Amino acid sequence: MDYPENDAQFAYLKVNKGVADAPSVNPYFIKTRPLKIYTTAEYVEGILRGDIAMLSRAVTLIESSKEAHQQQALQIIEQCLPYSGRSIRVGITGVPGCGKSTSINVFGMHLIQKGHKVAVLAIDPSSARTKGSILGDKTRMETLAREPHAFIRPSPSAGSLGGVAHKTRETIILCEAAGFDVIMIETVGVGQSETAVHSMVDFFLLIQLAGTGDELQGIKRGIMEMADGIAINKADGDNVEHAKIAAGYFRNALHLFPPSDSGWIPKVLTYSGKEQTGVAAIWEMIDEYVAFTKANGYFDLKRQEQANY
Ligand code: GDP
Repeated sequence: MDYPENDAQFAYLKVNKGVADAPSVNPYFIKTRPLKIYTTAEYVEGILRGDIAMLSRAVTLIESSKEAHQQQALQIIEQCLPYSGRSIRVGITGVPGCGKSTSINVFGMHLIQKGHKVAVLAIDPSSARTKGSILGDKTRMETLAREPHAFIRPSPSAGSLGGVAHKTRETIILCEAAGFDVIMIETVGVGQSETAVHSMVDFFLLIQLAGTGDELQGIKRGIMEMADGIAINKADGDNVEHAKIAAGYFRNALHLFPPSDSGWIPKVLTYSGKEQTGVAAIWEMIDEYVAFTKANGYFDLKRQEQANY
């Protein structure tokens, strides 16, 4: 309806013109071309070439709940399987705020500088923060996210722990086939997901903090028992001494646990993700572990068990 502006009846009223109804279909939507569909051979060729966009698309297929996508994903995984396995898989856990993302960012950059290609995956089906993806916000690993030799993928946003873990295993295979030789899998050290992560990695690193009074910080005994290494973060400024004391505490605590199947005696180190000190020693520890378990056969045994799983 039109309101004549000078009509006496409407002298005291100011009625703004309305807007036309929005079209029922978003016009930009219509113009968008449908997503390109790739053949399995194209996916596999792209992944083996190390094409990150292709890897990313294939992981999206893995995460899809559509039957057709899952079938194609399975074919891709099968064809990539012979090219997988050549990596070091490291699980990284610790309570929220212990500095996991800061550390993974720094670890990743350290490894890339040494010539590695680094993939970061996450398992966290419980987090409400970003519908289950603790890495949803890539700015938490800002420097690493910009690296062409890094691939960062949040946890699939839906599903049970079993489902998420399964998809993560499949994603590891594709990352390895794409040439990523260090796979870090992040989890929030408070729930059940640690057991799932432990069952898919070679080395399990627990990040802890010093100086909070309760040295166990809500980390369950079972999680400490799984750790191949404990790294005490934020050993900087006034906190250096506290971190050293905490390291002593953890070393003593670890003595009380039964020896691990690998024969490896877990180490306790201190470092600072923020100041990037002590980072090299953590990766030397992991290299040492790999050399040790490869020599005694445990590395391959565990991989075999994981493959059967
Ligand atoms: P996450 O929740 O475990 O991923 O922890 P974040 O990496 O997000 O870090 C939590 C907070 O601790 C942030 O405010 C970081 O700036 C801080 N932080 C992380 N690493 C260090 C460190 O080595 N030293 C100090 N002083 N602070 C740190």
